[in-house]
Amino acid sequence: MSSPSRTAEVAVFAGLRGPARTFSYVVPEGLPLSPGHLVRVALGSRAVPGVVVALDGAVDRELKAIDALLHPLPLLRPHQLALAAWIAERYRCGLADAVRAMLPPALASRARASRLGAARGERSEPVFAVAPAGRAALYAGTRVGPRQLVTLRALVAGAVTPHDLVDAGGSAEAARALVRKGLATEGRRAVRRVPAEFALVEEDRVRDAEATPAQAAALLEIAAVRGQGRGLLLHGVTASGKTEVYLRAAADALARGYGVIVLVPEIILTAQVVARFIARFGDRVALLHSALSAGERFDEWRRVLDGIADVVIGSRSALFAPLERVGLVVVDEEQEPSYKQESAPRYHAVDTALALGRASGATVLLGSATPRVVTYEAARNGDLTLLSLPERVGEMALPPTTIVDLRLELRSGNRGTLSRELRKALQHAVGGGEQAILYLNRRGFATIVLCRDCGYVATCPACEIPYAYHIDGSLVCHRCGRREAHAPDRCPACGGARIKQLGVGTQRVEEEVRATVPGARIIRLDRDAVRAKGAHARAYERMRSGDAQVIVGTQMLAKGFDLPRVTLVGVINADTVLNLPDFTAAERTFELLTQVLGRSGRGTAGGRGIVQTYLPEHYAIRASAAHDYGAFVEAELAGRRRFGYPPFGRLVVLSTHAKRLATVDRRADELARWLREAASGDAEVFGPAPAFAAKRAGSYRAQIVLRGVHPERVLGRVSVNEEWTVDVDPVTLLG
Ligand code: ADP
Ligand code: ZN
Repeated sequence: MSSPSRTAEVAVFAGLRGPARTFSYVVPEGLPLSPGHLVRVALGSRAVPGVVVALDGAVDRELKAIDALLHPLPLLRPHQLALAAWIAERYRCGLADAVRAMLPPALASRARASRLGAARGERSEPVFAVAPAGRAALYAGTRVGPRQLVTLRALVAGAVTPHDLVDAGGSAEAARALVRKGLATEGRRAVRRVPAEFALVEEDRVRDAEATPAQAAALLEIAAVRGQGRGLLLHGVTASGKTEVYLRAAADALARGYGVIVLVPEIILTAQVVARFIARFGDRVALLHSALSAGERFDEWRRVLDGIADVVIGSRSALFAPLERVGLVVVDEEQEPSYKQESAPRYHAVDTALALGRASGATVLLGSATPRVVTYEAARNGDLTLLSLPERVGEMALPPTTIVDLRLELRSGNRGTLSRELRKALQHAVGGGEQAILYLNRRGFATIVLCRDCGYVATCPACEIPYAYHIDGSLVCHRCGRREAHAPDRCPACGGARIKQLGVGTQRVEEEVRATVPGARIIRLDRDAVRAKGAHARAYERMRSGDAQVIVGTQMLAKGFDLPRVTLVGVINADTVLNLPDFTAAERTFELLTQVLGRSGRGTAGGRGIVQTYLPEHYAIRASAAHDYGAFVEAELAGRRRFGYPPFGRLVVLSTHAKRLATVDRRADELARWLREAASGDAEVFGPAPAFAAKRAGSYRAQIVLRGVHPERVLGRVSVNEEWTVDVDPVTLLG
């Protein structure tokens, strides 16, 4: 080889299974290549697309050359490549994995030919225009039918689509009649599909409203840190005007020529937030979420790449949209566990958003009514700027809430799931023409052992977290692995015999509600019901229109439901999540209760809340009923500090599985021993212990937990092979 050629490291996307990989190629002379470019390369006998992740030095071995450049502009901007490197380092994955996560899944198929495909219109619609003869006919007073006349006038005034015509009192049929007479012309154009879920019911009335003083102060602060890549926590109770702050901060960034990314946890459940962005920014909005087909996702991504859309809304991966310049990243409901990706790369979208801010200079705005204590502590120690919206917009007050002690209820002989107080309140609300939400705080499986008489929960004596109940009748601590062969059949605290595992279903609640308020129309909304397309939106509409009076459901009720006629929120069982043996159990409970109680009293009729619990003294229950985030945070942080949980230490979970229990045990014991030898004060090593789901899909599962200030240092000293998944900064230990 004569002249010193350069090499490029290319992440190849050939639908390869397993971890993505990078390969080196020679850069043909004269090819203007930079990192982020999409190229075609040879892999074995095939030609496949790939993305240049780095340009290296001189060629030192026999390498193939890059075939061709497939798109003139880089698909990944420099700040994105920097972010990919951060992800690979922080979450211990390959750079190619991180890069692949940033690109749409359909990229490989759309990049097959000699170039990158353009966005396709998913559908087309008819469009009309007036013909010269039509204009003449109108002025000459030529006689046409009344509908055709209105339609012709609308066309002359610039109406184009059937929708425009209908708005003006005309119709597409009338326009076609005009076409047949030679007075108009018809064509078709592609339209981008915005799903019906995101159509806004009301007008965007608040756009020009004056900001509340708290909103104005927050917006000033956001403006003050512009361009610094700083993170801010917008802590505001439900309906305090957070979304309006996002919208105005976004408008400011757009006005300055910067793009905006908005992350929402589950897009279908936060349709109202999305709808408000679409109402305000129209076609500039691109939606990137998992409910789209791969083709739709590619099209939306492509609109961003081409600069047609510069407001990107979506779940986690919207963070990786190829905006040329990012001015603002909003993470709504920052506390949501769904921001953690549960497959490689296992990134947390909040931490990754903050890293994107540092890499790009974008302001990162984390919003929540109930921020994670980790985030709150970061705001308190100055890593983030704290912005508060302490009150609801307007006159609405947070609903006064009563705690009902279910142990007393049982003692008085009530074996139902609705307490007397809740039944009375339900009858009162429905009788008065108001609406109620009944909420089950439920996970899919019964896991803890609880005394129905005194509220005692069987707990690991070493770790002070509840034991998990297993089908074989044993109790297992999923932190330290301690096991008791039999669950007690008498309560060790009160001697009562009514100690059993916990679990209630929505169906049973629905039946009791039916008996309590006969004649009321009731909707049930749980995971199963929501699978049906549009079920969530339909349920919301039925409540909104007043067609139904009571809705019974699980987690999906807690979000988005803004129903002014709801005056009662009843929490059937506040304890199911609280009792999970997980370090975030109290935080999740506080968060879910606060969310769902916030659904009450959004209208002029006011509202109240009722929380049923076996643990009426627990700080998470008391603080949520009192709407006291401060009290919750203090109690929770004290507990976290005592056990070295985040933010006082970081966690890494290493998990493995195998068909034979002996294999898992041997493998796990061996790695745990190595980790303990390597730990040297940087982290504590817990386990191995059976995973929370100790057996799944025919495999036994075990996990080891590292907890400490520098768990990554320990990982750096031990080689962990591919039989293990490594989860850095997990949001749960119940994997
Ligand atoms: P959050 O996101 O905190 O739940 P929203 O932004 O949805 O709060 O605001 C709650 C309600 O108050 C919404 O109906 C919104 O349109 C309205 N709102 C927000 N800001 C203002 C304002 N400055 N003036 C009048 N109404 C507002
Ligand atoms: Zn234990």
